Amino acid sequence: NPATAAAAPPPASCAPRTAPAAMKFDVNVLRYIEKDAWRVLVSVEMGMKNHELVPVELVSAISGLKHGGAFKYIRDLLKHKLVHHENQKYDGYRLTPLGYDFLAIKAFVNRGAIAGVGRRIGVGKESDVFEVVNEEGETLALKLHRLGRTSFRAVKSKRDYLKSTTTHTNWLYLSRLAALKEHAFMKALGDNGFPVPRAVDVNRHAVLMSMVDGHPLTQVQKLGDPGKVYAQCVDQLVQLAKCGLIHCDFNEFNILVNEEQEITVIDFPQMVSSNHYNAQELFDRDLKCLHKFFLRRYNYRADLDERGVPDPVFAAVAGGGVGH
Ligand code: ADP
Ligand code: MG
Repeated sequence: NPATAAAAPPPASCAPRTAPAAMKFDVNVLRYIEKDAWRVLVSVEMGMKNHELVPVELVSAISGLKHGGAFKYIRDLLKHKLVHHENQKYDGYRLTPLGYDFLAIKAFVNRGAIAGVGRRIGVGKESDVFEVVNEEGETLALKLHRLGRTSFRAVKSKRDYLKSTTTHTNWLYLSRLAALKEHAFMKALGDNGFPVPRAVDVNRHAVLMSMVDGHPLTQVQKLGDPGKVYAQCVDQLVQLAKCGLIHCDFNEFNILVNEEQEITVIDFPQMVSSNHYNAQELFDRDLKCLHKFFLRRYNYRADLDERGVPDPVFAAVAGGGVGH
């Protein structure tokens, strides 16, 4: 019974440790949402495949609940801000990003992948990352992709009904696509020995992965051995290129380092093939980013270090590499 699974109290390590303002989820809500209310929420999600706003009639048809029943649960969902009501063009409901988050979290809870959601550990440009815990008490990271929100808001009012339907459902589609892509890359890279988080599961716009022991370089003011870390970073760029891939966002936010000065690379949805028309430029840009950061933050230059690794040349490392 999913409701029971969700009702299991999260371990102490999962309890929110930050101020409530930083908490996006009240996971308690999961416990109070009735089974039929979930059915209604999923029906709204399904209705959004071809409707900007899903009329109650469609919700009740998809859910198989009587009109009155569907309406009752929609009111509950509204109260929890999982759906939003609009009646400007016509009367209907749409899924909110929070509603989408809950559907993904619920799916993970149902299949026993997670037992509770804790604090937010990362806010990226296009994602929120939360600390979660699985049924064995292991802490994992849950990344919720958030794409297309701003562009949607910007164009929403100017579009006609049909176009705005496409634009509207875009954030659902784009975020889901990013999650699928990221999970697939993470899995493939991990299987091939790259230092990336372990890909655990994916649902909708959410990727479940192992929690990395370490901090993004952007939070690390001093490194014991910057040369060692720099060399690993360059080596990762080279190994990726040899597999026919360019990270494209290989910077201090996406490289995590632990106490032993070992790196883990994260954040792959923007990765491209080294067959890309400006692969060379993208590769060089990743490399230049590294240079600049290591100089600025750690006053490190590989060319002034006797052990320093020389700059790899894209054509030499990617040419005839695996994955072509
Ligand atoms: P975005 O695409 O929004 O930049 P990231 O994947 O880079 O998302 O994640 C945002 C932040 O969350 C990272 O900079 C990092 O601090 C944290 N983070 C992401 N994944 C993990 C993980 N598996 N373990 C620990 N921290 C993580
Ligand atoms: Mg990032």
